[in-house]
Amino acid sequence: MIPFDSARRTVFDAAQPRQPTETVPLVLAAGRILAQPITALEDIPSAANSSMDGYAVRAADVAGAVGNNGTTLRVLGEAAAGKPFEGTVEPGTAVRIMTGGLLPHGADAVVESEAAEEGEDVVLVRRAVQAGHAVRPAGEDVRAGEVVLHPGKRLVPGDIALLGALGVVNVPVRVRPIVGILSTGAELVPPHAVPGAGGIRNSTGPALYAAVTEAGAEPIDLGIVGDDRDALAERIEEGLRYDVLITTGGVSVGAHDLVREALELHGVEVQVHGVAIKPGKPFLFGVHGAGQAQGYVFALPGNPVSTLITFHLFVRPALLGLMGATGRDRVIRAVVDEAVSKSDTKRHFVRGVLGVNDRGEQVVRTTGTQSSGAVSSMGRADCLMVLPEASNGVERGDEVDVLLL
Ligand code: AMP
Ligand code: MG
Repeated sequence: MIPFDSARRTVFDAAQPRQPTETVPLVLAAGRILAQPITALEDIPSAANSSMDGYAVRAADVAGAVGNNGTTLRVLGEAAAGKPFEGTVEPGTAVRIMTGGLLPHGADAVVESEAAEEGEDVVLVRRAVQAGHAVRPAGEDVRAGEVVLHPGKRLVPGDIALLGALGVVNVPVRVRPIVGILSTGAELVPPHAVPGAGGIRNSTGPALYAAVTEAGAEPIDLGIVGDDRDALAERIEEGLRYDVLITTGGVSVGAHDLVREALELHGVEVQVHGVAIKPGKPFLFGVHGAGQAQGYVFALPGNPVSTLITFHLFVRPALLGLMGATGRDRVIRAVVDEAVSKSDTKRHFVRGVLGVNDRGEQVVRTTGTQSSGAVSSMGRADCLMVLPEASNGVERGDEVDVLLL
């Protein structure tokens, strides 16, 4: 059995950035990995504008305005978003302004409507303001020339807003790796079928399809194959055409566990097989081909929980690595809310749910049964509690690393 850290190092070393770049329309860029730095060519906002509805004034004019000692200014007109006021705010005058309206020439502050009373062509200002009050200066948000997004960032809707504001309509992103998913096991039937005696529905195939999509890669469903040497060899050969092949099941050491043999038959060099973790011990990783044509294989154990946890520990970070994404997983510290025992020397990943205790601390408790067949627990878990190799478990109140799902 290979220690977890060295298994991860092997996988991460192999999964270096190599996906080519393409451009996609702005609205389709969320979830993709940015391939080039984005430099702002303009200031945002492009010119000073108002952050409130009110009156654009010269701060010096209203310096003495308080409560009943208001200052009366002559109203010259209006500045609304998209409809600037063309004239100049001279001493003793003001311009009615709406949120987003450009600050007119001469004005240096905005008095909010709540502190002003408008009469016919005049406004009575009831408060003093500093220059710059309620004004968003040009470049306050983004300065021209600034790098606003760095390559490797996974784009979120907020980034789409920024790109839109800067006029970037074709976004350079990494091509998504294509990931074949092959479910192996004589007992499996598709989810729409009714299994016979001893049969079960393929739950990990659809779950991996979803997980691959969520990781930002492109899944291909290669269906189900039974524990049959020839059929397996043929389907694996097909699966090896994709950038990445994920198989499930048949990778332990039982008589029906034929996946490794079929992979090696097709030239896959197995670099990891058997990792000191629970769940997920039978995990296998291999590579085939060379250079740009190199392909990667992840053979995951068939138990649904083991499948999804090994996906999260190895496959997801590798897919992100191939796309040059920054940050492969997110780990936080949390206080254990419930004792968990452990008596072996493997690293355990315990399905957990995060919460906050009455002292305001981040706490984690388990989802209950940790059987690797307990598929119902996987959707409830929002994290994995990490119990190191040397630990004998944790007590209530201990602090642990928690891997966010
Ligand atoms: P294996 O890794 O092939 O030894 O399978 C371990 C356990 O997971 C067995 O109980 C299998 O029936 C079950 N299993 C394997 N593949 C799947 C799958 N695609 N969906 C649900 N359960 C599976
Ligand atoms: Mg099997």
